[in-house]
Amino acid sequence: MSYASTNTLQSRQTPYCSAIIELLRQHGHATNADLLRWLRKTYPLVSATTVHRATTRLAKRGEIGHAPANNQGAMRYDSLATPHDHFMCQRCSMLHDVDVISEVRSLLAAKITDCAVSGRVVITGVCKHCKTETSL
Ligand SMILES: [Zn+2]
Ligand SMILES: [Zn+2]
Repeated sequence: MSYASTNTLQSRQTPYCSAIIELLRQHGHATNADLLRWLRKTYPLVSATTVHRATTRLAKRGEIGHAPANNQGAMRYDSLATPHDHFMCQRCSMLHDVDVISEVRSLLAAKITDCAVSGRVVITGVCKHCKTETSL
């Protein structure tokens, strides 16, 4: 009798979860479709359902965060799980992490007392890359 298979259930999901965390760390932000495309380079047989389940679980555990959706409305995940603000390019949907709210908070504190800002903002514009393309 062997009890060696007690952790089968856990190890089935783990390689994908750690690969997803690593990919998000490299890219900052990504949709499930991006993650699926990148994961398939290492795991050709990984399915969209597996990726979806892994990202949902990781977000629920607070290991990854939610990022603003891209121009096509696709949900994106964030390697940073703590709340922060974003700059988003209106043309290519590129996201850049910024922290506007901490500065706004101190501005507000000077003007309005007893006010706590908790929301997060997305500032839109055109990124450096898209700006260069236009001027060519
Ligand atoms: Zn852009
Ligand atoms: Zn972010």
